[in-house]
Amino acid sequence: MQKALEEDRKIQDAKSVQETLDLMRGKLEGIVPEFELAIKAELAFKINQLKKGMNAVILAHNYMEPALFHSVADYSGDSLELARISAESDADIIVFCGVRFMAETAKILNPDRIVLLPAEKAGCSLAQSITGEDVRQLKNRYPGVPVVSYVNTYAEVKAETDYCCTSSNAAAVIRYLADKGHDKIIFLPDEYLAKNVAAETGIPILFPSRPDGSKGGDPENLKRVLIGWRGRCEVHEKFTVEDIENVRAQFTDTVILAHPECSPEVVKAADFSGSTKRMIEYVRNIDAPRYLLLTECSMGDNIAAENPDREMLRLCSVRCPHMNLITLEDTLKALREMRFRIELPDDIIKKARRSLDRMLQIK
Ligand code: SF4
Repeated sequence: MQKALEEDRKIQDAKSVQETLDLMRGKLEGIVPEFELAIKAELAFKINQLKKGMNAVILAHNYMEPALFHSVADYSGDSLELARISAESDADIIVFCGVRFMAETAKILNPDRIVLLPAEKAGCSLAQSITGEDVRQLKNRYPGVPVVSYVNTYAEVKAETDYCCTSSNAAAVIRYLADKGHDKIIFLPDEYLAKNVAAETGIPILFPSRPDGSKGGDPENLKRVLIGWRGRCEVHEKFTVEDIENVRAQFTDTVILAHPECSPEVVKAADFSGSTKRMIEYVRNIDAPRYLLLTECSMGDNIAAENPDREMLRLCSVRCPHMNLITLEDTLKALREMRFRIELPDDIIKKARRSLDRMLQIK
């Protein structure tokens, strides 16, 4: 997890809208247009005043738009980092600037605290691809086989899961279970992440046939196998090998970093693959003439703001429509109106908590 950088902390401590604007301009000039900065500085100032008086903490995923990301977030990070910090927080109110499954994760880890999601409809194509009932059917079909679910799932799926994982620790969780002697592991729901983890761990993957008639392989015939699900991130599936070839043709010295939710072909063609956290560390620590991140475009802006000495190329048409719903306007309304509260049934919280606790224990 990353605590707000010193410059961002100064923005949060500004004593007036004008001071907020001056500090935001210093950080975001050239990244956020001037006319937007004036509006956003006023919103950020109001949010920062309000949250302090309410003992609220704002957690922002790396995919938040740069003005929000740098002006109001107490902590930023990927899903795993934000889950960890929410579990350690002593704030009365957690405002989750991310998507619903992330806010649900914070609620599962903090059942007695108020968790707010600023935009009610901020969903996720991956989380949407699978239900708790789908997992129950898989468990009936493969009794005794452990279920690993990517954290990008809703609480009802986590409640049916043995181990959650993120893109940071997915391979570690699979290796952990394989070392414990499990020959078959159900790994849900991201098809591409599962294929990339299969390549990394050397364990083959199969996608079984589905009750809807879609055909697949038969895991019974393999000694060691990951049993996958064909969910996709609607953002990362857009990147192609052709994108990489086009960029390399124009800028031969570009280092290309791909998120593991990209297709295996894209991951193979890239120079590096890792979670958003690992991409940020890579840009910070490894010198290169220029970088291209194959992930949600706001993250490129956020890294550029933090590393003005680094040249970032952008394929800026690729924004997550769900992350994009979280705005400073709605974050202010969330605090003022205490909306939209995440509520989950107690039994789901209890069962889902077990799989999350196991995830937090495996690095
Ligand atoms: S970027 Fe992809 S995985 Fe992340 S919230 Fe958007 S749709 Fe879901």
